[in-house]
Amino acid sequence: MTNSIVAYIGLGSNLSNPIAQINSAREVIKTSKKSDEIAFSSLYSSPPMGSSDQPNYVNAVLAVSTELSPIDLLRYLQEIENRHGRVRAERWGARTLDLDLLLYGQQQINIPDLIVPHIGISERAFVLYPLQEIASDLEIPFFGSVKNLVAKCSLSGLEKL
Ligand code: ATP
Ligand code: CA
Ligand code: CA
Repeated sequence: MTNSIVAYIGLGSNLSNPIAQINSAREVIKTSKKSDEIAFSSLYSSPPMGSSDQPNYVNAVLAVSTELSPIDLLRYLQEIENRHGRVRAERWGARTLDLDLLLYGQQQINIPDLIVPHIGISERAFVLYPLQEIASDLEIPFFGSVKNLVAKCSLSGLEKL
């Protein structure tokens, strides 16, 4: 693809067969015309961040090469969430599918609907460990190397599936 950028997407689900939700989202993104898959991490299980009165999450990180602009990629990811039955209720509440734009090249973006690097990237085990698995030498704008971030981040119940 011409003019493509490497972007990292965090996938999460804890409702309606989470593993199938994650694999389905991966397939959709993989077969899209404007994005190619570069790498996909293992699947991980992690305890919920918000109310503990919800099932554990399945998480993974996907690296793509994309021709979409950051905002078009965000809208595309939201459309996929909606097609997977995502209902927006309380923050960090249970959901069928969450797709977060973690990184877009080395860009730092701060507009009303989009903050990149993603707000949770520097401290969430379920983001950092899968990210390190597929991009061990990655440098994260503002936050530093994924290696150093992982070294400072406890597993907090994260398990590889
Ligand atoms: P968190 O963002 O802490 O992981 P969440 O994923 O549950 O929580 P959502 O309800 O999915 O939050 O998203 C809330 C808003 O976050 C969205 O409306 C979106 O515009 C905004 N947003 C800002 N930056 C990003 C990003 N990098 N990726 C995805 N959404 C983002
Ligand atoms: Ca999220
Ligand atoms: Ca989200």
